Amino acid sequence: MPASTYQSPWMKEDVRMFRDSVRQFVRHEFAPHQERWRAQHGPDADAWAKAGRAGILLADIPEDYGGGGGTFAHEAVVLEEMARQGVNFGSQVHTTVAHYVLAYGTEEQKRRWLPRMALGEAPGAIAMTEPGAGSDLQAIKTQARREGDDYVIHGSKTFITNGARAGLVCVAAKTDPKVVGMRGISLIMVDTRELAGYRAGKPLEKVGMQQQDTCELFFDSMRVPAANLLGGVEGRGFAQMMEQLPYERLQIAVGAVAMAEQAVEITTRYVKERKAFGKPLMDLQNTRFKLAECKTRAQIGRVFLDSCIERFVAGRLDEASTAMAKYWLTEMQCRIVDECLQLHGGYGYMTEYPIARMWVDARVQRIYAGSNEIMKELIAWSL
Ligand SMILES: Cc1cc2nc3c(=O)[nH]c(=O)nc-3n(C[C@H](O)[C@H](O)[C@H](O)COP(=O)(O)OP(=O)(O)OC[C@H]3O[C@@H](n4cnc5c(N)ncnc54)[C@H](O)[C@@H]3O)c2cc1C
Repeated sequence: MPASTYQSPWMKEDVRMFRDSVRQFVRHEFAPHQERWRAQHGPDADAWAKAGRAGILLADIPEDYGGGGGTFAHEAVVLEEMARQGVNFGSQVHTTVAHYVLAYGTEEQKRRWLPRMALGEAPGAIAMTEPGAGSDLQAIKTQARREGDDYVIHGSKTFITNGARAGLVCVAAKTDPKVVGMRGISLIMVDTRELAGYRAGKPLEKVGMQQQDTCELFFDSMRVPAANLLGGVEGRGFAQMMEQLPYERLQIAVGAVAMAEQAVEITTRYVKERKAFGKPLMDLQNTRFKLAECKTRAQIGRVFLDSCIERFVAGRLDEASTAMAKYWLTEMQCRIVDECLQLHGGYGYMTEYPIARMWVDARVQRIYAGSNEIMKELIAWSL
């Protein structure tokens, strides 16, 4: 069977139809505005509402709560279409936040927040990282002190995706400063509307992914109802993060494969058109071999990713496999994009060429949601 006829086994008819509508939406509503989003360091103000109306937010959250009622396959389609069309929108983090609410929220919280998130009225952000605590999340210093029916939260976070526009932030904070390490951490949902003591900093200047707003968050004695504690019991935050981070890592792996496939596709087109020494670059054996290597790696990556997606949908994906997917597929993505940029020559270094933007956007994939070094630790623990 020729490689090009390979079909992801999870691509059922309903998922295919969903893909078509997501593709159209992204092509017409988001892709043409990426330059503006980059310049303004974030999506247009109405982008979230547009995505909500189009039904592409919370694709795998039950319909009862306003979501699409699909599986992770539907979420994967959204991520793939964004990656293929060079769109950076924070829907990935947004969906992750919804999954925290779905997994640990009370019925009342799910009904309060999830429909608003599905409509794009409350973009979600997750605030774990602090200046002194990234890989080592146990070191977080943000404190949530119980006072009557509220928590009073004090501290700051950094590198927060969707931070500037966030309507609902899942904050990791120490609820018991006396307990050292993971057991003193809780997750508290913060509804940012007119909240005194809550402030988002200016967008951070990043190397790539400028279309996503990433900023610092500051909490100055911010009062949040104690009922917003996820799971209702203090000290469970670290375990909850460990349970939900694999979802985010699989999302990242999906984007990695989609971008790698797209890089091979656009580069193949480019080298067939661009001439050197009187003939297309594709006629050079080095070009063919490099693209053959890239195509092979992307295809192997795709098959492993598909196996992970199928196992995830069936509730059988283990943590080590998710870590392997995040680590290996993002390394693969960066390697392929780099090789493809090389095949573009100097044009590959010009930001008007999609391959140049892929190159800068891809790099962070090996760092966030647990760096690839941390992924190797997780894999090693399973040995
Ligand atoms: C664009 C962007 C968006 C982000 N979005 C969010 C977000 O929405 N929410 C959020 O909470 N965070 C977010 N982050 C933060 C991200 O998750 C952290 O940057 C990441 O976890 C690494 O933490 P750090 O930057 O503090 O690096 P450090 O932890 O200081 O690590 C520095 C280096 O040391 C290595 N290292 C650390 N510990 C070990 C170890 N035990 N073994 C081997 N090597 C180790 C790391 O792999 C890395 O190479 C984002 C970051 C970026 C850049």
